[in-house]
Parts: sequence; structure tokens; C-alpha cells
Amino acid sequence: RAGEPPQQQDGGSPKQLPKGVVLGPDGKPCRSCTSVASWRAMIRDKSTQPKTISTTQPPATAITSLQPPADCPPDVDQLGRSTWTLLHSMTATYPEKPSFTQQSETRQFMTLFGKMYPCWSCADDFRAWMKEGNEPKVSNRDEFGRWMCEAHNAVNVKLGKESFDCNRWQERWRTGWKD
Ligand code: FAD
Repeated sequence: RAGEPPQQQDGGSPKQLPKGVVLGPDGKPCRSCTSVASWRAMIRDKSTQPKTISTTQPPATAITSLQPPADCPPDVDQLGRSTWTLLHSMTATYPEKPSFTQQSETRQFMTLFGKMYPCWSCADDFRAWMKEGNEPKVSNRDEFGRWMCEAHNAVNVKLGKESFDCNRWQERWRTGWKD
């Protein structure tokens, strides 16, 4: 997971939160930066449960299941899956010959996305990756789709997951698999 969880300040000595729990800028646990498993561990571990989050506790159904209920705020994984679906689908419908304006707006979108993504620690790493010579490539659909695939692979690698074969990005997100 990106970003080591900061230590919880509770007015006294700092306490270590369960592994994977990431705090937000307000000092409270950040739901969209934390997996439901880590969130559940935090809820269970009453000794480290910050007093300030009593109103943000998920209902009992969320702490007995590894899938957050569909009508509850997303955890980092649910948010990520939904977001990748949006981003890859954007590349799938991107023009083969985009205008100058379309290219410029797409670059702006990715820059703003990197600032506004709700998992702040994910967003920090994503912005850093873009700055390391990985600026959005938007001159045509295939280039943008491959760039997005590489961006997703950078996160896959960071999380210890398998990389996706970017030669197949269109099959996964645009045309469907070839039989
Ligand atoms: P996902 O990784 O969400 O992928 C969804 C589907 O996309 C897969 O089933 C597969 O079919 C397809 N796919 C996989 N890789 C590729 C690829 N390279 N190109 C095209 N298609 C692909 N989570 C963290 O815990 N820490 C982070 O720092 C973090 N950073 C993130 C940064 C961003 C910008 C985003 C959008 C998400 C981030 N996430 C992060 C969430 C993480 O990437 C996953 O979404 C989450 O772990 C759920 O993973 P998943 O295995 O269900 O599939």
C-alpha cells in the first residue's frame, strides 16, 4: 500500500494504527485510502481506535465481511476498480485523431485527476510517477490507451500484482477478447 500510515495522535502519546490504515489530512482514518480488511482490523482493535471516528464507523455488516456493503463509502480497492474502469473507458472512446484542444483538455484532466483523486496517498504516488518522465501521452487513442495501461501497471507493480500485457489493452477495454 502506498504511504506509510502516520501515527495516530490522540492528545497523548502517539499510537500505531493497524497496518494499511492511512490517515487523511484531517488526521482521521481515510476510508478511500484504506482497504476494508485494514479498516476492519482498526475497528476490532479498540485500543487503537481513535475517539474522533465514532460517527464514521461502518455498520456491523461491514466488519463481518471483506466486501464493503454496496451502499457504503468505497474502500481503496472498490474506488480503484471503479476509477480504472472510468479511465480505461475514456481511453477506449478517445479519438484516433484528437484535435489540439482535445489533447490539451485530456492532459489537463489527468493533471487535475492526480490532484483530486480521493485516496491522497495514491494520488501523491500517481503525480510522482507522472513527473518521472511519464507525462500523459495523448496524441492518439492507442498511445493514450497504452499510457494508461502503463500507469495502471506502475500501481500493479507497487502493490505486488502481475503486470498487464499492454498490447491487449484494446481487447480488455474496447473491442472485447479475440477468441
Ligand atoms: P484493478 O487493479 O482495479 O484492475 C481492474 C481491472 O483492470 C482488472 O481486473 C484487469 O482486468 C484490468 N487491468 C489490470 N491491470 C491493467 C492494466 N495495466 N491496463 C489495463 N487494464 C488492466 N491501491 C492501493 O492499495 N495503493 C495505491 O497506492 C493505489 N494507487 C492507485 C492509484 C490510482 C490512480 C488508482 C486509479 C488506483 C489505485 N489503487 C491503489 C487501487 C488499485 O490500483 C486497485 O484498483 C485495487 O487494488 C483493486 O485491484 P483489483 O485487483 O481488483 O483490480
